[in-house]
Amino acid sequence: IRYKDGEGWHDAKVMPRGPLTLDPSAAVLHYAQEIFEGMKAFRTEDNGIAIFRPDANARRFRSSAERMAMPELPESLFIRAVDELVKADRDWVPSGENASLYIRPFMFANDAFLGVKPASEYLFLVIAAPVGAYFSSGAVTVWVSETYTRAAPGGTGAAKCGGNYAASLLAQAEAKAQGCDQVVFLDAVEHRYIEEMGGMNIFFVFDDGSISTPGLTGTILPGITRDSILTIAREKGMTVREEAYSIDQWLADAKSGRLTETFACGTAAAVSPIGAVRTKSGGEVKISGGTGPGPVTSALRESLIGTQRGRVADTYNWVHRVC
Ligand code: PMP
Repeated sequence: IRYKDGEGWHDAKVMPRGPLTLDPSAAVLHYAQEIFEGMKAFRTEDNGIAIFRPDANARRFRSSAERMAMPELPESLFIRAVDELVKADRDWVPSGENASLYIRPFMFANDAFLGVKPASEYLFLVIAAPVGAYFSSGAVTVWVSETYTRAAPGGTGAAKCGGNYAASLLAQAEAKAQGCDQVVFLDAVEHRYIEEMGGMNIFFVFDDGSISTPGLTGTILPGITRDSILTIAREKGMTVREEAYSIDQWLADAKSGRLTETFACGTAAAVSPIGAVRTKSGGEVKISGGTGPGPVTSALRESLIGTQRGRVADTYNWVHRVC
C-alpha cells in the first residue's frame, strides 16, 4: 500500500514476492525512517488459521509511526492487509506445535531527496514465511552487555524501528562470541537495571510465587507477549510486579535461591527458559539448575500457546480467525 501527502493511503495490492525498485536517494536508505512488526499465524486445532492479537500489533505500529514522524496507518487497514496476505499464503501456514507463518509488516520512507526532514511518500508492505521453533531446545544462555546499551531515555527504545536493531547487532554478536544465545541490555543511564533482550522481554520468578518484569519506562519495547503473560499471570492469581531489577540483584537472587526461574518472551521465542547468565565481571551463574523450564514458566507457556492454538479458552478475544 502506498502513501503520499495529500493523497493518503492508496494502491493496495497482493502480489508475488519480488525485488523492489528504489531511488538511491530514497529517504529510508539515508535516515532510516523505517518501522516494522512481527507476528505469527497458527493452525488451530480445527485446522483453521488464526493470528494472535493483530490489533495490538496495529496499535504498536501506529505508535512507532508517530515516534518516527511517519503517517498513521489505520488499524483496520493494517489488519486487512495482514489478513489478505495470510489468506493468499494459507497453504504455507504449517501445522505442528512449534511451527507457524511468521508475518512481517513494515513501512518505510521512499521519496527521493536528501534533506533531513520527514518524507512525504511511504510504502507499507507485508511479507511472510513459515518458521519453526526459535530456540532449538532446553534453556537459553544469555550474555549481559556491559559495553553497549539499546535505548536511552527520550530515544526510540519503545518504537519498533530498524535503527534500534542496527544498534543492537554488535551486542548480539558479542553475546554469540561468548557462546550465548541472546544479549541482555541494561539501562543506558546507570548501566545497572535489566531492560530486555535482543528480541524478547524478560520475566523473573521468585520463591514466594511472585513474578516481575521491567516496567515500560519508554526505553524498552512494549512486547505483546509480555502484556499477554502479565494478564495470564494475574488471572492465575499470581502476584505480578512491573519494577526495576538490577543485574547485581538478579545474580545474587539466583545464587541464594530467592529467584527460582527466569524466562524470555516474545512472538518469535514464545516463552523460553533462561538457564544461565554470563557477565564479563561475574562469570556464569546458573538459574534453577540451568535445565529446562521450571513449573511457572511451563504453566505460563502452556496458557499462552494453548490460547493461540485453541486448546485454552480465549477469555480476552485475543485470537483473530483469518479462515
Ligand atoms: N523486545 C524486543 C527488542 C523485540 O524485538 C521483541 C520482538 N518484537 C520483543 C521485545 C517482544 O515483543 P513481542 O512480544 O510483541 O513479540
